[in-house]
Amino acid sequence: MSVSQETTDLLKEKLKETFGYSQFRGEQEDIIKNTLAGKNTFVIMPTGAGKSLCYQLPAIATEGTAIVISPLIALMKNQVDQMNAFGINAQFLNSSLNKAEMTKVKNDVISGQVKLLYIAPESLTKEDNLAFLKQAKISFVAIDEAHCISEWGHDFRPEYRRIRSIVESLDSTLPIIALTATATPKVQQDIQKNLNMDDATLFKSSFNRKNLYYEIRAKRDDIDKQIIKFIKVNHGKAGIIYCLSRKKVEEVAEVLNVNGIKALPYHAGLDSDIRMANQEAFLNEEAEVMVATIAFGMGIDKPDVRFVIHYDAPKSLEGYYQETGRAGRDGLEGICIMFYAKEDINKLDKFNKDKTINERDNARMLLNEMVSYSTLGVCRRRQLLHYFGEQVEKDCGYCDNCKKPTPKFKVEQEVVLALQAAIMTGERFDAQHLADVLLGHKNQYVTSYEHHKLDIFGKGKSYFKLQSDDDEDEEDEEDEEVEYSDEEDEDGNPIPKPKAKKAPKTAKKKTQQQEPVEQWLSVIRQITVLGYLEKDIENYGILKVSEKGHAFLKDSFPLTLSKDHDYENEHIEEEDE
Ligand code: ADP
Ligand code: ZN
Repeated sequence: MSVSQETTDLLKEKLKETFGYSQFRGEQEDIIKNTLAGKNTFVIMPTGAGKSLCYQLPAIATEGTAIVISPLIALMKNQVDQMNAFGINAQFLNSSLNKAEMTKVKNDVISGQVKLLYIAPESLTKEDNLAFLKQAKISFVAIDEAHCISEWGHDFRPEYRRIRSIVESLDSTLPIIALTATATPKVQQDIQKNLNMDDATLFKSSFNRKNLYYEIRAKRDDIDKQIIKFIKVNHGKAGIIYCLSRKKVEEVAEVLNVNGIKALPYHAGLDSDIRMANQEAFLNEEAEVMVATIAFGMGIDKPDVRFVIHYDAPKSLEGYYQETGRAGRDGLEGICIMFYAKEDINKLDKFNKDKTINERDNARMLLNEMVSYSTLGVCRRRQLLHYFGEQVEKDCGYCDNCKKPTPKFKVEQEVVLALQAAIMTGERFDAQHLADVLLGHKNQYVTSYEHHKLDIFGKGKSYFKLQSDDDEDEEDEEDEEVEYSDEEDEDGNPIPKPKAKKAPKTAKKKTQQQEPVEQWLSVIRQITVLGYLEKDIENYGILKVSEKGHAFLKDSFPLTLSKDHDYENEHIEEEDE
């Protein structure tokens, strides 16, 4: 089945008439046609790109009811309201409805009036709902936020794993359209496998947000001062500040207000009417800054957010990308600043301590990616896009690492050694293991695989020797006493206070030398971003030599790499007087 000219015209007409848009965006038209042709479709597009239209429009252009599986009741309601405002019969089925309301929805669907039925995965799997769906005339099934099916996504929902078998029990020929804004190759593969959609046509658009400026700053005692200064310089512009805890949200909002900045808090602990009022005030520009937990932002369409500040590091790069993505949706300026402290990462890791081993390992990997992104001196955009499976050959020129590069160093033999280490160990190990082998660390893993008997074992020892660049000795790094914050984790244990470092009093030129293992890890991570090593999709963290890497081994040349950030000691030039 392919799509006729007639349908093409009809789609254009509906786009204009129903949604009021004169043109499709990006690949929307091809996506819609693919679904209408009865094929399976897999859409990976960043947030705000216009995914919803990809199932809303075909739903109204075809007979029957389209089933939209969506994980969040609030989002469902938003979309249903919006569709109803467009004059389309859309309804939802979820736990927020009472019996009578449910019966009404079901009757409307069976009588063929409903074009879009939004349904939560939990509701989908209920027996009586299944029986009802069997009586309905379904046009196709849309699976929104499809990354929820993957444990490697940031929002794993076990019920999503049952979608495929349920759809099959309804009608195995129903076309499926899966949509997500999470694009890591691992998650992508997981979605396709779980939905049994290897045959699906893939539409993946670039995740590059050209107008966003990415910057990471060391988190120190002066963080509030820095934020206030930033907002004052950007006076009148709307922005969001993301904090990890509700308490922090309140505190920061307070501090800003005391300093004459109109800021409002937003978190799930506030009454819903206050939340709504604050959101409205932000949307209507009565407040310039929203200080919020990640509860804020989903489904909020404010195109002129000019900055997003991360007071604390997010749990994953997916989260970071989503949250920073709320800046500059109109295509104009969007400044994204994150304050980074290793202690915050440790704190996030602590939250995982009650999870299953598997969940904890996954969460840790996501955190490690966050650390890597934050500390590497490589172009931020290149790193982000690489994380989402896009290989970029050039630095962007519009991020902190591009604008204010860390010192560079040249490598060639080091890269050869790292690649050889991967090959000699059978391309089955992660960066840490490769670094251990290169440095001749006889640890349990290395010996259990007999990697200490390999030629490459210890070959990397003579590189990156600890050198003191100056005469100055760094002696003040003794164990400091841990300070506890008055926040508690889920178990009621006090959370160690992030050690906000004081800005060094004297402008120390030198940065502290990294340990050799850190340096090897940095090289390995950098050449991964540059594409000489590639991540195994099946087994997270495992590195293989890419074609580019093999070519390098045949004909090597000097590569320029960047020193990592050392946020604990790095001296940020004080711009204020
Ligand atoms: P996503 O689901 O990918 O995050 P949405 O579907 O919420 O994105 O769409 C983001 C915004 O873009 C919405 O305000 C939507 O109305 C708008 N939009 C979608 N398609 C078009 C189009 N073809 N022309 C203009 N605006 C569009
Ligand atoms: Zn850059």
